[in-house]
Amino acid sequence: MDYDVIIIGAGPGGIYAAYELTKEDHGLKVAVFESGNELEKRKCPIDGDKVKACINCKHCSIMSGFGGAGAFSDGKYNITNDFGGTLHEYIGKEKATELMRYVDDINMSHGGEGTKLYSTANSSFKKLCRQNGLLLLDASVRHLGTDKNYVVLGNLYNELKEKVDFFFLTPVRHIKAEDGSYSVITDKGEYTCSKCIVSVGRSGSKWIEEICGELDIPTESNRVDIGVRVELPAALFSHITDELYESKIVYRTEKFEDKVRTFCMNPHGSVVNENTNGIVTVNGHSYEDPEKQTDMTNFALLVSKHFSVPFKDSNGYGESIARLSNMLGGGVIVQRFGDLIRGRRTNYKRLADSFVTPTLKAEPGDLSLVLPKRILDGIIEMIYALDKIAPGTANDDTLLYGVEVKFYNMEVSLDDHLETEYDGLYVIGDGSGVTHSLSHASASGVFVARDILSKQNLS
Ligand SMILES: Cc1cc2nc3c(=O)[nH]c(=O)nc-3n(C[C@H](O)[C@H](O)[C@H](O)COP(=O)(O)OP(=O)(O)OC[C@H]3O[C@@H](n4cnc5c(N)ncnc54)[C@H](O)[C@@H]3O)c2cc1C
Repeated sequence: MDYDVIIIGAGPGGIYAAYELTKEDHGLKVAVFESGNELEKRKCPIDGDKVKACINCKHCSIMSGFGGAGAFSDGKYNITNDFGGTLHEYIGKEKATELMRYVDDINMSHGGEGTKLYSTANSSFKKLCRQNGLLLLDASVRHLGTDKNYVVLGNLYNELKEKVDFFFLTPVRHIKAEDGSYSVITDKGEYTCSKCIVSVGRSGSKWIEEICGELDIPTESNRVDIGVRVELPAALFSHITDELYESKIVYRTEKFEDKVRTFCMNPHGSVVNENTNGIVTVNGHSYEDPEKQTDMTNFALLVSKHFSVPFKDSNGYGESIARLSNMLGGGVIVQRFGDLIRGRRTNYKRLADSFVTPTLKAEPGDLSLVLPKRILDGIIEMIYALDKIAPGTANDDTLLYGVEVKFYNMEVSLDDHLETEYDGLYVIGDGSGVTHSLSHASASGVFVARDILSKQNLS
């Protein structure tokens, strides 16, 4: 064997699997194969000047490379089983929480010390939500911030590169299973191992689907979340964000009884473009450093859709909606809430006349021409519900950017060790469809590393 363990993907899942396998010297030979670049070489060419829009690089520096999709994220590390994935369904709630806390401790000892841990426990805000038909989900949230998140990743890389062989810019093309061992096939050669951990995240969604097909591993379709990113003056939400930083609030609409939820709240943050396989959608982040913060807060409002029979391709549905917005707006569209409810598009004049300044340069337009009525009605209802707990949310000048789409990988059939029906072939993180967050993905990495160590009597 070339390696005892090969890890495919250097996102949080892969990084924490590598960390746990090599924390103590068991003499294990571990390699990580990653499509993208090492951390310091990850640079998106969009500079707003010479390169204004995505040029579809061969390796997207935002989504790929050491640190994975989360490298330039807001670094909101949610310790909860209420959202962020279903890891607890495989390993139990207690274990999942313990592992998320364990990773948080590692982050703190690798540059994250001093960052604040927020909590919904004992928050009076829960009652206010309930009184207004809203549900606040339980969580502890560590806000690392985009800047500190990067520092933590840098420190982890410096430590790991001494113990692990990293192969960057080396996408794995195929995995061959042979008599209890695995061959990992890349453009640069073929490498063998006895255990293989696949942690390819959302950017590897199409690839993992192909691999599951080749190895005959069953999969199930997953949901897609579609909606908008809301941006408003930070002062309107400060009573909530000062106490909780990020609040996950759920609302059930009166008209369709659909659930609409807040997602990825960024106090004093910025709205940003996100590129998934050439489709431009919207996202947001914020910095821990006050100097880099803005006067605006942003968060997503999302509605989940899951198709099964006869149409199964939930992601394809989300992609089509995102493509429509890209077709009409050349990218992300921005609309004032006041214009949306009056049934008119936002144009440059209306945007310039408003009392807020968008943090993302997006094309003013009409989201009602993009989002299906059912989804848009739900979002409008929720904005009015939020207006009761944060007056001003439904102001005319509140900005809605669209579309925000959260694609989920299909769920790979796994046992409660996160192992496929092939002995020693694990699928973890967002690529497995089990997790959708930094905390759950990282915890899944630690979990399988310990599983491997214990099976070799090394734990
Ligand atoms: C802009 C943005 C902001 C976010 N903010 C937050 C946040 O604040 N909090 C939070 O909890 N979550 C956040 N997320 C989600 C979070 O980043 C993911 O849940 C997390 O990174 C998943 O980790 P992972 O290891 O499973 O996958 P990823 O982080 O996606 O890593 C997978 C890696 O595998 C590599 N890969 C793919 N295919 C192959 C292949 N064939 N061969 C080799 N390598 C391959 C990819 O290049 C990638 O580097 C954010 C995501 C984005 C895009």
